[in-house]
Amino acid sequence: MLSKFAYYKPESLEEALSYLEKNPRTRILAGGTDIMLLLRRNVEICEHLLNIKGIPEANTMSYTPNEGLFIGAAITVNEICEDVGIRKRYPSLSGAADNLASYQIRNRATVVGNICNASPGADLAAPLLVYDAKVHIASTEGNRIVEINEFFAGVKKTVLKENEIVTGVFIPDVELGDNSVYLRKSRIKGHDLCNVGLALRLTPEKRLLMAIAAVSTTPLRLTELEKSVEGKEITPELADWIVEEIKKYMNPRPNSVRSSAEYRYHIAGVLIKRGLKKLLEKEAN
Ligand SMILES: Cc1cc2nc3c(=O)[nH]c(=O)nc-3n(C[C@H](O)[C@H](O)[C@H](O)COP(=O)(O)OP(=O)(O)OC[C@H]3O[C@@H](n4cnc5c(N)ncnc54)[C@H](O)[C@@H]3O)c2cc1C
Repeated sequence: MLSKFAYYKPESLEEALSYLEKNPRTRILAGGTDIMLLLRRNVEICEHLLNIKGIPEANTMSYTPNEGLFIGAAITVNEICEDVGIRKRYPSLSGAADNLASYQIRNRATVVGNICNASPGADLAAPLLVYDAKVHIASTEGNRIVEINEFFAGVKKTVLKENEIVTGVFIPDVELGDNSVYLRKSRIKGHDLCNVGLALRLTPEKRLLMAIAAVSTTPLRLTELEKSVEGKEITPELADWIVEEIKKYMNPRPNSVRSSAEYRYHIAGVLIKRGLKKLLEKEAN
């Protein structure tokens, strides 16, 4: 049974922030597709629930050429799927959004909720990592911006403080010729988190950027691996090398309900090969 809590839906960011400041034991509600499950099962208990969907800034999504894309905290995953500009500029983000749960869940689930929930297997984390997204955070003390690579602090943990709200996520603009893909593997039945989620991005300067989810305590940007392939042509031999090398960065749970660690190691390799092939095919067209 759902335990009792106070519910508040402010109409401005200022109201929301001062409510958070006055009521430390507050949880934030966006789409509710993660948090309501936890509250209903009493896995988490809160005294106050703050719905951010009435905040005007949270409902904005805007693209500025040469600057980038701002996705407000109330923007749903389906809004990402439906945006043709995002599909053209940030294809791996659209790809990950398409693959997140079901249409009904995507209608409520938000992009920001996906990263704030900080599941190691969050689908949208990997594409946001390869695009160097910036997390915009507000509190009564002021605003701050955190690089997405520094946002995740562990399983279901972020660097957010109790009095902070994420107002949105900003993705820098890409140059013409920039391309990316998202591949994931999940259990066959039903809508579920991935066993491995992989985002690969190839910049016009031929820099290969990589991020992977569900293989460690947090989604990972593979910066060291990126450096070691810098300047190298993508060939089947290089793909084989990355398949072996990527294992050094993975630290999957030995056994989870979704899969064994061995399976995740194997699938990561399969997705790397498929992803690189897809990127090259896209480049050729
Ligand atoms: C059946 C089912 C299938 C699913 N499948 C997938 C899947 O395939 N892939 C996947 O990645 N996820 C999946 N999920 C998880 C979930 O749908 C996503 O993580 C979703 O994006 C969460 O967004 P939300 O708006 O519903 O978040 P909420 O549940 O509202 O919030 C999630 C967490 O983030 C915090 N939060 C939300 N917004 C903010 C904010 N602005 N500032 C600070 N904290 C905030 C909340 O307090 C809470 O702790 C699934 C869930 C269900 C129920």
